[in-house]
Amino acid sequence: MKKLFLIKYGEIAIKGKNRYLFEDALLQNIKKSLRNIGDFKLIKEQGRILVEPLKENYDEEEVIGRLTKIFGIIGICPVIKVDSLDFQQIQEHVLHYMKEIYQDKKITFKVEARRADKSYPLTSPEIAREVGAYLLQHMPTLSVDVHHPQVRVWIEIRNSVYVYSQVIPGLGGMPIGTSGKAMLLLSGGIDSPVAGWMVAKRGVALEGIYFHSHPYTSDRAKEKVIELGRKLATYTGKFTLHIVPFTEIQLKIYEKCPHVQLTIIMRRIMMQIAEKIAKKQNALALITGESIGQVASQTIQSLGVTNAVCTLPVFRPLIGFDKQDIITIAEKIDTYETSILPYEDCCTIFVAKHPQTKPNLESIERSEKNLENIDAMIEEAIAKTEVIFI
Ligand code: ATP
Ligand code: MG
Repeated sequence: MKKLFLIKYGEIAIKGKNRYLFEDALLQNIKKSLRNIGDFKLIKEQGRILVEPLKENYDEEEVIGRLTKIFGIIGICPVIKVDSLDFQQIQEHVLHYMKEIYQDKKITFKVEARRADKSYPLTSPEIAREVGAYLLQHMPTLSVDVHHPQVRVWIEIRNSVYVYSQVIPGLGGMPIGTSGKAMLLLSGGIDSPVAGWMVAKRGVALEGIYFHSHPYTSDRAKEKVIELGRKLATYTGKFTLHIVPFTEIQLKIYEKCPHVQLTIIMRRIMMQIAEKIAKKQNALALITGESIGQVASQTIQSLGVTNAVCTLPVFRPLIGFDKQDIITIAEKIDTYETSILPYEDCCTIFVAKHPQTKPNLESIERSEKNLENIDAMIEEAIAKTEVIFI
């Protein structure tokens, strides 16, 4: 009796002719994720993937923990594999399996049987009935409920027999790498890691970009962003972070532009730099953590003026979310605790007391004309960008 993990995937099962691309990506992502925690064989079969441990010395909880962070998986079932097709032996193994998990527990159950090999001497309903009766006879705390059982015991007869009764929910979504790559503007806040995670969940590989205004923002602020990159990498596999030195540009804006326009002009330049780096890295879109009305730079007028400098699509997956909804996701994906560490970000230093909430594009563009040399400054910031591979 061997223990394996059966991986169920949802949406990717319906991708028609390209289905194998999605399955192969998922298989590779699982392989990479488990690489340093044991020796596993992955078997692709009939709309699911089996993960078979080749050595005993693995940590089951760790394996399940990793699998629950892989996009594209909807369920993880710890299963036992019985090599004998002899019915008496199957029954005994199922009983042994059930005793290990449900011994002395008062639960209702139902056996669900499936046979791939139609020449097997018993039909599926017969297998279910026989095994059900056998379990009742040997485990007095069990009772049958065919309509709403607490536990469904699955028995699948193929070349071997697979038995499982637990489905640990996965994240769903699509395997990373099946939907291109996007560049996430990652600040140290709560919103942007959540925004990146949501887009990554749809199969999009991520790189991050962080605008660092040393010494106005400290090294600890930078460390915090790197830590957020690490947290995201537990879902995305890897994460490349571009750290752009932004101080000179910010000081220049501060010196040359009306202070009520500082934030919006700064954001427009951030977008331009992000876009240039994105294109160099073959990223097809930008991602931000903006949400309508959250701050002055996120009114729809401000978003419009910011967006006017972009040529790549800008994804704002949190656009209609309330802060509390965002926090709920941040907690679930484990970025919240890092995000609320109290290190200042560049935007809090160079903000006006009463920033414009309804900026006018022409007026902003006029102010930007005062930034002589800005193109060269942008190029210099890009040239001095530090790249960290996580
Ligand atoms: P967050 O919680 O993500 O910091 P926020 O509510 O503080 O968001 P803003 O500071 O207005 O909002 O920033 C809006 C978005 O712009 C962020 O979600 C992020 O995508 C991007 N951004 C802001 N500051 C930076 C920065 N220093 N580096 C990279 N991206 C940034
Ligand atoms: Mg912020």
